[in-house]
Amino acid sequence: MDLQHWLGRATQAIQDWTDTFDPYRPHPSLRVDDDRFASVFAGFTERLKDNYPFFHPHYAGQMLKPPHPAAVVGYLTAMLINPNNHALDGGPATAAMEREVVAQLAAMFGYGTHLGHLTTSGTIANLEALFVARQLHPGRGIAHSADAHYTHGRMCHVLGVASHPVRTDGQGRMDLEVLQDVLRTGQVGTVVVTTGTTGLGAVDPVHDVLPLAERYGVRVHVDAAYGGFFTLLAGAGGIEGLQPEPWRAIARADSVVVDPHKHGLQPYGCGAVLFRDPEVGRFYLHDSPYTYFTSAELHLGEISLECSRAGASAAALWLTFQLLPPTPDGLGRVLAAGRRAALKWADLIEASDLLELYQQPQLDIVTYFPAVDPATLGGIDAASARILADGMTGSDPVFVSTLKAGREAFAARHPKITANADGARILRSVLMKPESELHVEHLHNRVEELARTC
Ligand SMILES: *Cc1c(COP(=O)(O)O)cnc(C)c1O
Repeated sequence: MDLQHWLGRATQAIQDWTDTFDPYRPHPSLRVDDDRFASVFAGFTERLKDNYPFFHPHYAGQMLKPPHPAAVVGYLTAMLINPNNHALDGGPATAAMEREVVAQLAAMFGYGTHLGHLTTSGTIANLEALFVARQLHPGRGIAHSADAHYTHGRMCHVLGVASHPVRTDGQGRMDLEVLQDVLRTGQVGTVVVTTGTTGLGAVDPVHDVLPLAERYGVRVHVDAAYGGFFTLLAGAGGIEGLQPEPWRAIARADSVVVDPHKHGLQPYGCGAVLFRDPEVGRFYLHDSPYTYFTSAELHLGEISLECSRAGASAAALWLTFQLLPPTPDGLGRVLAAGRRAALKWADLIEASDLLELYQQPQLDIVTYFPAVDPATLGGIDAASARILADGMTGSDPVFVSTLKAGREAFAARHPKITANADGARILRSVLMKPESELHVEHLHNRVEELARTC
């Protein structure tokens, strides 16, 4: 796909459409001189160089990558109209597209009937799920793993609900014994399970949490903001060493959140929340004096806490899904490559004298640290920070990220390391670009080189 060509076609297509209406003169107050624009634009693009090369396979740091060209063209084309998916009269076409992509996401998770919509982010999507959870279990708290995204603790605070962090096991997954102790108190109304923690990519055992939740009469919400699309790899036998059970169990959870702006090839501004029971729509009910006048159909603004939302987001996701649908053969192939990259790098690290694996990757996030002598948390912390900084300099840069691992978490995985600090930064590489697969050897060699001087 040639982006330049298609961006030209995009402006042409919208121009053709606007030309079907009566011509008019833009107001002089909006006029911008081309020469002045050129000069401002030059300064603007210069400033944008102050960035890390998220697109490049040698960037193996945070959860960042550019959107797919189809998403860019979809977003920009629709944005020239700028529909607002708050209400049907704000943009019927993109509202219809939103319904279709939400149905595709629901099908991916195995939801039959469902209620759902896109959101601006995973944060807002989770907030909505926790809001509904609170309405259904007033006065009861929310349990989530201690490694869950910090948004859960924060949003519990916003909602005025008690948050119960549950300790994780030696692989970063929610400890079910501890969860059961918490559930026994009767103080919890909802359990949040995370399929793919933001730090380690650890996958909570949704399939084991569901029967517990049923026994104690609590809801289950799945935070699959990062990992949701890995459901596509959980088909027969489990592809690339992915345990299929947690992913298949999402179909039986009460709600799920996924961020198309993470693994769905979208620009930022695209999360999604889905509820298995459409009846929960009643909690969103409100009257609006401004909108909802063109049809008797359910408006997206009636089932969302956010008001204005970019119709362009729905358009971008719709266009992307037409080409790379959320199926094992579509988007699944993109995720499988990243998963293979993580397994390959983990093997290289295990065979290395200079690096150590922090834990086996469960998805496409590799966590590791330099093998320092003597092996202390303080030494690992300093060496990791140095590798991060040194890696970005020079003629052949590599970009990794660091993750703070606590003393107890470290001891559970590497008991022989001297705990002379309350934790240590380790190295973390999110391999979410399929190209990573062909570059892990290079990345590994470069990071080894950096570790050699520790
Ligand atoms: C990224 C993430 C979030 C927050 O989503 P945003 O889109 O950044 O607001 C929540 N939970 C998990 C597991 C995440 O990875």
